Amino acid sequence: MKVMKLGGGCFRDADHFRRSASLITGRRGRMLVVVSAVYGVTDLLYRAIDSALVSEQQVPRSMLEIRTRHISLADELLAVAKSKQCLSHEIDKKVEPLERLLFGIAYTGEASASVRAHVVSYGERLAAILMAALLREQGTDAQALDADAVGVVTIDELSDNATADLATIRRVLPSIINPLLDRKTVPVVTGYFGRTPAGRIATFGRNGSDYAASVLAYALEADTLEIWKDVNGFMSADPKLLPGAQPTGRLSFYEAAELSYFGAKILHPRTVEPLVGMTTAIYMRNLFDPASPGTEITVQAEVRNDVIKSVTSNEDIALLRIHGPGVGFKSGIIGAIGDRLASNGVNIFSVLTSQTCINLLVDKEDAARGLNALADLDGDAIERVDLEDDVALVAVVGEGLRHTQGIAARVFSAVSREQVNVHMIASGASEIASYFVVSRADTEKAVRSVHREFFDNVGNG
Ligand code: ASP
Ligand code: MG
Repeated sequence: MKVMKLGGGCFRDADHFRRSASLITGRRGRMLVVVSAVYGVTDLLYRAIDSALVSEQQVPRSMLEIRTRHISLADELLAVAKSKQCLSHEIDKKVEPLERLLFGIAYTGEASASVRAHVVSYGERLAAILMAALLREQGTDAQALDADAVGVVTIDELSDNATADLATIRRVLPSIINPLLDRKTVPVVTGYFGRTPAGRIATFGRNGSDYAASVLAYALEADTLEIWKDVNGFMSADPKLLPGAQPTGRLSFYEAAELSYFGAKILHPRTVEPLVGMTTAIYMRNLFDPASPGTEITVQAEVRNDVIKSVTSNEDIALLRIHGPGVGFKSGIIGAIGDRLASNGVNIFSVLTSQTCINLLVDKEDAARGLNALADLDGDAIERVDLEDDVALVAVVGEGLRHTQGIAARVFSAVSREQVNVHMIASGASEIASYFVVSRADTEKAVRSVHREFFDNVGNG
């Protein structure tokens, strides 16, 4: 059983859809396809929410844009007039509730988190319809399925960054999917979102279709999960930052998870999570270079000569520094801070403490809210809270990192040779990852210097 995930950068135009379809039709055996939205459509839907909040008149405009984007793709994709007609009818029917949701937002002037999630789910719903119709026209029986209708449920009522209820999905999904597979129909299932226990829509966060695909691979006990992208998988650094970056080839589950967590945008950070403990192999492949092996993510850990497999950075973070003469000794203070932040929806990315300062790395977006939330926290231990939002995190990841002598020294001599000032270091943050914080202006310099140290001279093979 194979699960293939496609979408986003693989669905920019009709040619991309055709390439994607030919990957699917070229395979034999039981297969399920997970799709994310057409490129840019999720952003479009988020903008539609914002403009509906401004004025009701914006709703027809947004609807026209969304409809046109998909109908013109349908028009280009299908050859037979009758199928075109059917598909555009199907698209029109599909977006009816979307229009109602947007008018609802305009009318009430409110968009709750679950209504937002519901609105943005339409990108995937529409992409699934397009792909299934294209496959059918090419002679492969296919059926578009909405995740919320096939039992992709979440564990609680969180509307974004939701977590899939793996056990329930594994119990329910196969009974819906297997009969389709038995009659050689390819199910084309929406990624990105599921249904909460109360029946609302929740997303798995931006890029959540990778995670959704992994959830389905788990539920169906797939032996392979292929995640198709418009690039060659993981690299030794972000190629946009460093054109000389090299493909990483193979990564362990944990390396891929840490790299995604610390900023590699290529994979949703929770993608490997459902498959830990399974033998499913994960491949990340390039739609535009299908012959290249891409990245294989496997259970086996492999320690390479030079340990580090990739250097990654994240500029979407901020540092909250909680100062007080004895914060390091005040028991329970981290818990209190954590509770306060959690109840304000601020996710703590990392914590480093000393006797006089607690440093929290948080999402840049959440930083101001975090600062506010901590403003009136227990005055006797906390003197003040500062926010530094011109920082970036740089991480190195590789199996064997914690047990190999001299890696941290090499990382920091490399950055200091470039006169980059390191604000904070967390070496051995896990068995396989170390990170440090620099001024945002120094991100590129820091990544380049570390990359040069590990990848430019000695072969890292
Ligand atoms: N379409 C969603 C997004 O843009 C989910 C995904 O791409 O995986 O975030
Ligand atoms: Mg995406």
